[in-house]
Amino acid sequence: MSAAITSSTAAPTVTKRYSRLSSLVLGANPQQRGTVMVAMYASAVYIACLGLVAFFVQTGFMAPAVGWWMTGGIIATIALIYTMLRSGWSMRFKDPALTVFQIILAISWDCINYALIGPAHAGMLLLMELSLFFGIFSLTARSARIALAYTLFAAGAAMAYGSITDPAAFRPDLQAIYFVALLLVTSMIARLATSLTGMRRELEAQRKGLAGALQHIQEASSRDALTGLHNRRHMMEMLRHEVERHQRFNTGFSLALIDLDHFKQFNDRYGHQTGDEALCCFARQAQATLRAGDVLARWGGEEFMLLFPESTAQDGLANLELLRSSLQEATVSPQHPELRVRFSAGLTSFISGESIQKTIERADQALYQAKASGRNRCEINLEPGT
Ligand code: GH3
Ligand code: MG
Ligand code: MG
Repeated sequence: MSAAITSSTAAPTVTKRYSRLSSLVLGANPQQRGTVMVAMYASAVYIACLGLVAFFVQTGFMAPAVGWWMTGGIIATIALIYTMLRSGWSMRFKDPALTVFQIILAISWDCINYALIGPAHAGMLLLMELSLFFGIFSLTARSARIALAYTLFAAGAAMAYGSITDPAAFRPDLQAIYFVALLLVTSMIARLATSLTGMRRELEAQRKGLAGALQHIQEASSRDALTGLHNRRHMMEMLRHEVERHQRFNTGFSLALIDLDHFKQFNDRYGHQTGDEALCCFARQAQATLRAGDVLARWGGEEFMLLFPESTAQDGLANLELLRSSLQEATVSPQHPELRVRFSAGLTSFISGESIQKTIERADQALYQAKASGRNRCEINLEPGT
């Protein structure tokens, strides 16, 4: 039992310690962490380079003084890159990973090594390609061209230097062949980097398009197309949410079922278009009158549902009377300036423990009473019923 307790408490501690260490080494900002991480992988190439330097000094290809100088320089380069990335200084640039700068530094070291190790230099060509491959996924077409042009220039200079100072070890004809091979490989890398960049851009554009479409679909699925109000589905979600809030925090809420009076006549006398305009007029006026937090939805046809969170039915009634008087001033259609929208409403409050269907039913009964009592009025029904 105690062993189980020990292991279950030890695991989070180890994870916590690990995450503290990783944010110390890599930083807290996710983008910065990514750049530091890639730079750390790239340092593996530098460490391979250090291994080669040690090997060349051991085997006599490189003078020990030059070896020490190279070792110091490479370690300073690793420290410089780490400091620039980890301090957050590089975040001000468009490419916070400083990819081109890192490639130029790495290629410079590869070329210096190339020029200084006599007959063993050919192996450095592989490290040059490796240094270039590190940037292949993040370089833009332009920065790929810069990095590759620099590589050809620096490698060409190292080859020329070797051929002039030590022609026995750097046979000029072989250097020319190496240069052509390097040119071919770097051109392929440039092509690859450019098409990868294009693919990345395309994917990013597609991702943005899909995110926009998804947002549009979500919006459309919760809205009524004619009035722009929330639809019945969304209102049901809001009602369920209010019931949950009531269960957790004991907050009350009220709702009103609204039905426009003699609406069929709008269509019959003035046409369907005017009927639609009347629905929109009601929606506009209601939204303008409501308090922040009240939710209005088109329940169906010429019926609307109004939710008053943390309010009594009396609070809701006061709001509906404001809406009624604002509708007296509201013009439905410029072609029929005399036309006004009137409504009847049934109000109720949620009773703890009942289902939301029961509350809606009670509001519907109140609406029926309002219609039966002559329309253009609101009725409140707070009877729990059976
Ligand atoms: P009452 O006062 O009893 O509510 O009478 P009413 O005429 O409003 O009620 P009834 O249910 O008879 O008619 C409702 C009408 O609403 C019938 C239907 O054609 C119309 N309607 C429903 N949805 C729309 C719509 O989106 N646009 C238009 N123009 N009319 C609609
Ligand atoms: Mg109706
Ligand atoms: Mg009606």
